[in-house]
Amino acid sequence: MLEYAVFGNPIAHSRSPQIHQAFARQQGLPMVYERVLAPLDGFQAALADFFRGGGVGANVTVPFKTEAYAAADVLSARAQAAGAVNTLYQQPDGRILGDNTDGEGLVRDIVDLHGHALAGKTILLLGAGGAARGAVGALLAAQPQALTVVNRTADKARQLAAEQGVHWAEYAAVAAQRFDVVINATSGSLNGDLPPLADAVLAKAELVYDMMYAAAPTPFLAHARACGAAAVADGLGMLVAQAAAAYALWRGFSPEIAPVVAQIRAEMEPICAG
Ligand code: NDP
Repeated sequence: MLEYAVFGNPIAHSRSPQIHQAFARQQGLPMVYERVLAPLDGFQAALADFFRGGGVGANVTVPFKTEAYAAADVLSARAQAAGAVNTLYQQPDGRILGDNTDGEGLVRDIVDLHGHALAGKTILLLGAGGAARGAVGALLAAQPQALTVVNRTADKARQLAAEQGVHWAEYAAVAAQRFDVVINATSGSLNGDLPPLADAVLAKAELVYDMMYAAAPTPFLAHARACGAAAVADGLGMLVAQAAAAYALWRGFSPEIAPVVAQIRAEMEPICAG
């Protein structure tokens, strides 16, 4: 019986099965966890089949996080604030709880794994899509001095800022400002596109973070490093930490994150011939 799964489209690239199997080994329990390629117009039906068939927990990735939000019977406060769900749990009473662990994963990665405090810092968040929406609440809970959102489509930044009580600005308006931490929550890196952020902002940052992750530095992080950013980090730790929060919700066990990040990073390295 399939008890746990990750739903997405595409999904073949997902590292979630390896991550959750590593957590299950830490807990000393078996786990049946698989990737589910849901049709673009068939997510709700696939999800209903999964839970009817005895499914306990699901991770949800692109492009279904908004549909997962609509599918949940109950929502956590942070899922409500984000308007998106990346974790579903069939509670013992049969109701489906929708949660959003992306923001928790981001903050744990930056603070615990990379050792960069966010309290009292100025943060610039690039993007106003699902990932940015999921991040704002957790970033605010880390008590920064200020959090500013910029987005290519300025109206979406304005709306996010109004809903969640943060500042927003146009990219051009922050060109001469200094931010301690710059976080890329745009999907530009997926196509090799850089957000229209002034190089000077990257040069002055103490940490530049890209939610995207890859075996090689993402285009955004390579550029930030070339500009002189003091430190850069990609989103692999966020991926593992958001999964750890989901695992804890499902199975009442909080796994160690760092060794799993190291394992997945090693698995992503290109294999050298000879
Ligand atoms: P969405 O499609 O919801 O949002 C995309 C955002 O990127 C929008 O704000 C969009 O701006 C902006 N954008 C896209 N292309 C460009 C560009 N060329 N220049 C400037 N802005 C651009 O995507 P998500 O929010 O779901 O995902 C964003 C990124 O975060 C992805 O790379 C994803 O892989 C990553 N992610 C990583 C996670 C992890 O665990 N590490 C978890 C979740 C996401 P506009 O509004 O103008 O279109």
